[in-house]
Amino acid sequence: MEIIRTIPALRAALRAAGGSVGFVPTMGAFHDGHASLMRRAREECDTVVVSLFVNPAQFPDRSVFEAYPRDEARDARIAGEQGVDLLFAPEAAEMYPDGFATEVRIDGPLSQTLIRSGLSGDGQLTGMCTVIVKLLNIVGPDIVYFGEKDLPHWIAVERMAGDLNVPAEIRVLPTVREADGLAMSSRNVHLGPHRARAACVPRALNAALAVVAEGGRDPRDARARALAELAAEGVDVEYFEILDGRTLCPVDDLATPAVVAIGARVGAVSLLDIARTAPPTHDAAAGRTTAAHVS
Ligand code: AMP
Repeated sequence: MEIIRTIPALRAALRAAGGSVGFVPTMGAFHDGHASLMRRAREECDTVVVSLFVNPAQFPDRSVFEAYPRDEARDARIAGEQGVDLLFAPEAAEMYPDGFATEVRIDGPLSQTLIRSGLSGDGQLTGMCTVIVKLLNIVGPDIVYFGEKDLPHWIAVERMAGDLNVPAEIRVLPTVREADGLAMSSRNVHLGPHRARAACVPRALNAALAVVAEGGRDPRDARARALAELAAEGVDVEYFEILDGRTLCPVDDLATPAVVAIGARVGAVSLLDIARTAPPTHDAAAGRTTAAHVS
């Protein structure tokens, strides 16, 4: 695997490689969630590019940016083990040279819902969209991979890519979890003594999904059950939403497939996680009913 720092060097390496390109944008601090995206890209594409860039424009709070975990040597080893070909790790000045003056800002109901519900800050969304468009223009991938957990990212990127005619296909892959259900995240290292309590977030998602599995139709029941799980651990709820997964409009009937999104502050860490609701399916041959569940 080659580590590349500049845009011209990356373009030259991609020209030399030829074939299809799979791309995984990241901010590093790799765990198995990132690795799962890299492995899928390896299966599906001739050349796999991973970007490692802690994007300053995405952090309204400078101290959170400074504290973001960084260990390039470890990340490079993990990416190499997944068969990544090119690790693009630019300095900030390579991405934002002097005079940089352009932003990509999503407007309309989708971004308003993300911002109003607290799923994303305005500046954060714009910073993320701007860097993703830059990276897509630099890499020119056939397929770009995102994790389902970070709903504001992929939903905004899907909108933007459609609006701006970005030719890449967008793949959203399932969330990889720890044994107790906690979604893997680079933020988890900051949980410290609160780590065990953090498992109430996937438990809360499952409590909401259980209402759907039982045939419940009222989102308020799902909300009440989920919030009870979070309250039992005394965590601060930053948002709890049950939304149509395409439009992000709140659903008023759980018969509609939806996304349950939770933002919760555990200790000093804001955790976010989502799950998709689906009506239970019955396999008559196996005599078994299966309902959506995160594990
Ligand atoms: P980040 O480095 O946090 O910006 O994440 C880079 C990509 O990895 C994003 O598309 C995330 O959604 C994805 N990702 C992060 N955590 C997980 C996880 N637990 N499972 C699957 N994908 C993940």
